[in-house]
Order: sequence, then structure tokens, then C-alpha cells
Amino acid sequence: MTNKIHKRCPEDSSAHFFFILVGIGLFSIGLILLLAGYGLNSTIRSQIYSDAEEDAERVTRAILRSEEGYLFRETSPGLWQLRFSKEELAEFDTRMRHLLQLFEISKIKIFDDNHRVVYSTDASIIGLRDSENPRLARSLGGFIDSSLKYKESMVDLAEEERFDVDVVETYIPISMADGQVIGSMEIYKDISRYRQAFLSLFWKNISILALVLFLVFAPSMLIVRALTRRLSLVQAQLKEQASIDALTGILNHGEIMARGAACVAGPSPLQRQDPLNQAETNGIMMIDIDHFKQINDTLGHLVGDLVLKALAKRLAAGLRQEDLVGRYGGEEFLLVLPNSSLETSRALGERIRKSIAEAPFTCDGHHLSVTVSVGVSCCPRGDEQEFLLALEDADQGLYLAKNCGRNQVRGGPRSETWGHDDPGTCPGNLHPEMG
Ligand code: GH3
Ligand code: MG
Ligand code: MG
Repeated sequence: MTNKIHKRCPEDSSAHFFFILVGIGLFSIGLILLLAGYGLNSTIRSQIYSDAEEDAERVTRAILRSEEGYLFRETSPGLWQLRFSKEELAEFDTRMRHLLQLFEISKIKIFDDNHRVVYSTDASIIGLRDSENPRLARSLGGFIDSSLKYKESMVDLAEEERFDVDVVETYIPISMADGQVIGSMEIYKDISRYRQAFLSLFWKNISILALVLFLVFAPSMLIVRALTRRLSLVQAQLKEQASIDALTGILNHGEIMARGAACVAGPSPLQRQDPLNQAETNGIMMIDIDHFKQINDTLGHLVGDLVLKALAKRLAAGLRQEDLVGRYGGEEFLLVLPNSSLETSRALGERIRKSIAEAPFTCDGHHLSVTVSVGVSCCPRGDEQEFLLALEDADQGLYLAKNCGRNQVRGGPRSETWGHDDPGTCPGNLHPEMG
């Protein structure tokens, strides 16, 4: 009797699958919101930039046109320079402040082509050079350059006043009709009022998107949850079906072997209370119907089936809750009795044998006297191999019972020797009255 024990499947994975799906869904929502937020942020910012840039250009053009006479002087034919007379500076400053207020400009600096501040609404920096400023250099090269500055950020020149507003800082080249760049105007456009609008627009859009995603995601997940629950149920039913013998309703071969081996490998309830208690053993019992073929041959296989069913029912009824009973194959049954000694198992085998022999089965109107032969062994706590050895031993006990005239209980030679003086090889009948 060599059996490869079929390992049981891991616990149902549909709940696990559901949680993975929820995880993926939440991750996707997070990613969508993050990307959408990034995109929205960039779009709004670039819109604010370009608006502020346009305003700065418009202001620059307006200043250059209205202050033409004051700002420029021709040093030699066709060669222009910025000119700032100190006498007229105060008047120019007043005009500038008036103009800048209209355009929501916080501050203005005018640089000559030598990076020197020739005019600023912050008078303290007039005359200073901003030679390390790459953006100014770019502007003096003929390019417009804008960037957003929050009120918390630094200023260009150490001496400059800090702002209490958010600004877009734009450098506009001051160029003559022939393209000659003679300076640069740095304009700080106040965009503080956009900040609140920006934030509210941003969060409104993101919230709407989050809501839409949630409305799509939540019902989908509820449907998936319902489906995975159903799947779990079907899985459990399939598992149940796969472990039960269809004819008798008790455990089938694979299941009794797997559970038997697990039972032998695991600690008994007593050992769970006291892990040092290794003395506990498990009873193994093989039961085979005597002359079953005759029943089939004389009354037909259907009656034979009914006998198998009735016998399985009677076996199951006589066991403790923790005992295992399965159909080993054909008309053979295997019982695994946790926490049972050889004596206890033998006594139970005897009770079973007697209950079957003394109470005939009524199947399809036939009263049938049935007897069984029983092989018993016992198995200490151990691995799968230990279980198979004990099974082999019970099988030999059964063989002995058959040889000795059937309708009796015999221990296997290994178990008989194990803890007993009687080696059990003597084919003497243990139950002379049944002999
Ligand atoms: P022994 O006392 O030596 O055990 O004799 P036996 O007739 O019981 O044993 P044998 O091995 O000769 O025959 C077993 C019979 O069990 C043969 C087979 O047709 C029958 N059998 C096996 N499975 C089923 C089943 O599911 N239903 C029915 N009706 N018969 C089965
Ligand atoms: Mg048999
Ligand atoms: Mg038989």
C-alpha cells in the first residue's frame, strides 16, 4: 500500500484577489489625480505667466512711448543710450508710480546695457549693478524672460525691499527701431489676487475629478466584491465536493489521507495544552466489508451501493467529533482517531464490528447481515512517513483479520510490538465468540 498523499489546496484566494484589485484601483485613482493636478497646475501657471508677460510688454511699450523724450538720447548718429537726468527724476518717478498703479505693477527697474539700475521705484538701489543676473543678461541679449515669484522667495539684489505680494517678474529688452538693445526693464506684476483664484480653481477641478473617479470606482468595486464573494462560495462548494465521496458522503480517499497525515503531524488538543506531552498517539483503523462481492453478485451493485452508504452512515455515527472517517476505496474504510491509544482504537474497532454484525442492514427491502474485518494500528506524532507506516500496519492487521476468519479486529504487527509484549503475529482469534 504505497500512497502519495495529496496536499490540500491553499485557502480560497478570491478575497485576496479583491484586495489586490482595490489596491490597484486606489493606486490608479491616486496616479490619475496626481497627473491631473500636475497638468492643471502647469496649464493655469502658464496662463498666468503669459497674461503677466503680455501686461509687462504692454506697460513697457506704454512707458517707452510716453517717456520717449525723457528716456533716450542719441550719443552719436544712430547710436542711442538711456539718459536719466537727476533733476527730472522725481517728476519721472511720480509719473511712473501713477502709471504702474493702473496696471497693478508692484515695482519696476530700468537697467542700462551695463547692468546698472538707472531707475527703480525702490530709490535705494538706483546706481547699483546687477552683474550676476543671468536673466538680465538674457534680456539684454534681446529676449523676454518671465518667472513667478512668491512673496516668500528671495529678491535679486540684497539691498532690495522684500515684497508682500506674489509677482511675475518679467525682463523686457529696451530696443530701438533698428534692433539695438540699450537696456532692460524689469517689471513686477502683482498676481496675488490670482493665487486664491488659482487655488480654488485647482481644488474645484481636482475635487470634481476625484468625485467622478469615486463614483465610477465604488460601484465597480461593489460589483467585484459581490462576484468574488460568489466565487468564494462556489470555490468552497467545489472544495467540499472535491473532498467528499459522492456515494457515501464521507471523506474521499485523497481527503482522508491528507487530513490523516495532518492530524498525525499536528499536536493533539492535549499537546496543545501541554507541548511537552509527546506521549499522545493516534489510532488508525482499516475496515473492509466481508464477502462484499457476494452482495453485488446476488443482489446487484445498486444494493451493494446502498450497503456502502448505510455502513458509512453507521461508522460516522459512532465516532467522536474529532475522529476522521473516509472511504479508502471500494468497500474499504479508513478511520483516523486523534489522541487514541492502541487499546482505545482496538476497543472502538470492536464496538464497530459488533454493531455491524449484530444489526442487519435493510436495503431495498433486503435484510442483510453484514460483517466487517478491522485492522488497527497506532501512530505516534510524526511526519507523513509515520502516518503511512501506521497505515501499512493497520492494513496488515486487516489482512490478518481476513486470514483468521473475518469479522474480527486485529492489530498490525508493528503496533502490537510497539508497547506490547504480544507481537501479534499469532493468527489466534481475539474474539473467539465471532470466530
Ligand atoms: P473479502 O471478504 O475478502 O474482502 O471479500 P470481498 O468480496 O469483500 O472483496 P473483493 O475484493 O473480492 O471484492 C470487493 C468488491 O467490492 C468488488 C467490487 O465490485 C466491489 N465494489 C467496489 N466498489 C464498489 C462500489 O462502489 N459499489 C459497489 N456496489 N461495489 C463495489
Ligand atoms: Mg477489499
Ligand atoms: Mg471485502
